[in-house]
Amino acid sequence: MGLAASIAHLTVRSDTFGNGLYAIAILAVVGAAMLSARHHRLDRRILAGFGVITVAILAGQLLSGAERGVTEHFLGEFSYLVVQTTLIVGLLLVVQRRIGREPIGVLADASILSLGAWLVLWITVLRPLFDTITDEPAVVTLRGITFSLSAVVLFLLATLLLGDSENNTVVWLASCAVIASLTGDMLWALSDARLADLSLSVLNAPYVLALFAAAATLLHPEIRFLTAQGAYRASRPMAGRLVVVISGLVAPIFVFALTDAVDTRDRVVRTVSVLVLSAVVLVRVVLAVRANAELQARLVTSAQTDALTGLPNRSLMLQHVDTALRTAWRDGREPTVLFIDVDRFKNINDSLGHAAGDDVLIAVAERLRVVLPTRCVVGRIAGDEFVVLDPQTAGPNESMVLADRVLESFHEPLSLRQGDVFVSASIGVSTYRPSVTNSADDLLRHADTAMYRAKESGRNCVAIFDESMLESVTQRLAVETALYRALERRELRLVHQPIIDVGLGEVVGFEALMRWDREDGSTISPAEFIPIAEETGTIVPIGSWALLEALTHLSDWIASGICARDATMAVNVSPRQLSDPNFVNVVSEALTRAHIPAKQLWLEVTEGVMIAQPDQALVALTRLCELGVRVAIDDFGTGYSSLSLLQKFPIQRLKIDRTFIQGVADDADARALVRTIVAMCESMSLDMVAEGVETVSQLQALGEMRCAKAQGYLISHPVPPESIAGTVAAINELGPWPRHRRH
Ligand code: C2E
Ligand code: MG
Ligand code: MG
Repeated sequence: MGLAASIAHLTVRSDTFGNGLYAIAILAVVGAAMLSARHHRLDRRILAGFGVITVAILAGQLLSGAERGVTEHFLGEFSYLVVQTTLIVGLLLVVQRRIGREPIGVLADASILSLGAWLVLWITVLRPLFDTITDEPAVVTLRGITFSLSAVVLFLLATLLLGDSENNTVVWLASCAVIASLTGDMLWALSDARLADLSLSVLNAPYVLALFAAAATLLHPEIRFLTAQGAYRASRPMAGRLVVVISGLVAPIFVFALTDAVDTRDRVVRTVSVLVLSAVVLVRVVLAVRANAELQARLVTSAQTDALTGLPNRSLMLQHVDTALRTAWRDGREPTVLFIDVDRFKNINDSLGHAAGDDVLIAVAERLRVVLPTRCVVGRIAGDEFVVLDPQTAGPNESMVLADRVLESFHEPLSLRQGDVFVSASIGVSTYRPSVTNSADDLLRHADTAMYRAKESGRNCVAIFDESMLESVTQRLAVETALYRALERRELRLVHQPIIDVGLGEVVGFEALMRWDREDGSTISPAEFIPIAEETGTIVPIGSWALLEALTHLSDWIASGICARDATMAVNVSPRQLSDPNFVNVVSEALTRAHIPAKQLWLEVTEGVMIAQPDQALVALTRLCELGVRVAIDDFGTGYSSLSLLQKFPIQRLKIDRTFIQGVADDADARALVRTIVAMCESMSLDMVAEGVETVSQLQALGEMRCAKAQGYLISHPVPPESIAGTVAAINELGPWPRHRRH
């Protein structure tokens, strides 16, 4: 509407029409202000500002007709000054909240622009204005001031648009209004200075547009946020700012080059303005250079320090170690690195939350700083891993003393906001030896290897690096790599250990156990490779293979009459498999392919699974039970043996661990324990299997305690599938074991 109105104002050359439009525009502003005050909770100061501007414009329109007297003329001119000043105050109000984090730079840019504009304005309009106007000097001065203030308006507008805040629609609408009004001022100045002969319809058209834009600003719902802190924009308007500032500099240069000073006053104004402009440019350049240097310094620091603790990070630590190694030969000292890992940090994070985890890390960093001598450098190189460099250790003893001091320092709790927390650490120590250490990286890696050894030996302890550790690391790496290929190279196979019914002495089922025959002819025990397979995730495909293979074996044996039709197969399942979302499908598919009813499959899991990821385990086990598959707790008694597990999880069998069975024949305590477990299984209707039965007296004791099932070397070692027929026949032939004992 504003555009249409101002174009109409421009084209229709009738003063009455023009004045009408002007009046409509003023009415639009008044109406919009009233609506906005009711609906948008308009800031009272803005409302007041619009009130003043409207009244002043009305007054100006009424007073500044050519046929009126000097006083009216002066008052009319004064009312325009009021408009300009109110505009400046309003802009100040908005700018001061939205200028952003780097006000000085923005202010300097805006100053350059407005000073440039002022110079151009002076040379092209203002100076000629003073020469040509025949009016009263007071009126002319007033008009000159109003025009000069345009530079201030321009300055504030530039500050607003170039600042750090996101410019929303309302800011753009308001800026349109200001720019239109500035254009109007410019046209009036040109016309007053007799530089252009413009009719009233042209002169006032921009004001009509400005008034409509002001009305639109008032009506926009975002107006209520105009004087609020603006949201920071993601990227600063660099290019826009550059263009604006450069034009603020270049335009006056052109005007300067093309015109000469007319009189002394002109020369003074030009000189002062140029001096001020140069000063501002100088300040701006100095500021920019300084900001750049600061930013660069900050970047370098942040690239080399850990944001959480303020300690050096991995790359800076490596530099420190490197320097220490280079200078070690000078005083015959041996730089030592301690690799410190907070034990069970994940538990802290999981149970107390990440904020507490951060606090723990900060407290650990502080503890290290306090406890270590000042010559040591402490760094944090990853999550819960800290590194200490002692550049001047006198020998192995001293490094051990240092490590012990760190370990002991954690005997005192860390005081956090959440309360006191105890942590322990595993520490690996590596001292520089020219024969094994080539670089800073080596020294750090060796300390890391030693730290792993400390973890393996039960945490909360110190391990010193020696070369044999490298071998075991290399060996482990070789096993890991070979394990990846083992399945496709058919290096894995299953052996089976029969499980008997103690009362009947008959084979009622089997446990499948994995064997790995390496290329070099050696056979690796599952106790060695299953944990690696578990850690690397290879257990998932390997475990699926074992499941299908075991069930296929059972199916063959049933078909060829080697074992009873309802014989069962027990397969070990590790935690990683259980947390695999596809596991239940794998089980059900294996059952279908082998044609084995679900109830003939036992899955053996350890208690650890149910403790570490109880929710996940419950979901998986419940779905498996729905399939009809049964679940056994393996090695019962060696883990947490929390009885609540038996209540919470769908479990149908306990396998009593070998350590209890060992003493069952002659140790009263072991016997009492096993008797209790058997009684518990009976009352909870759980099936039970005694593991690792090696002697007849053990089996007899189990028989007396009415332990239902047993497996162990006494009955049979795990045997390959081709030997199972002979093994089963031999066991069944012997018949019930207690009878065998009587012979
Ligand atoms: P487990 O499930 O408790 O298996 C019983 C282990 O005890 C087997 O060791 C078996 O050979 C051994 N054993 C049986 N009877 C006797 C005995 O009378 N005396 C002694 N001293 N030992 C006996 P193995 O085959 O070395 O397996 C070790 C562990 O590796 C298993 O313990 C099981 O946790 C794991 N494992 C074996 N195969 C698999 C598999 O296919 N998948 C998974 N996830 N784990 C497996
Ligand atoms: Mg087992
Ligand atoms: Mg076991």
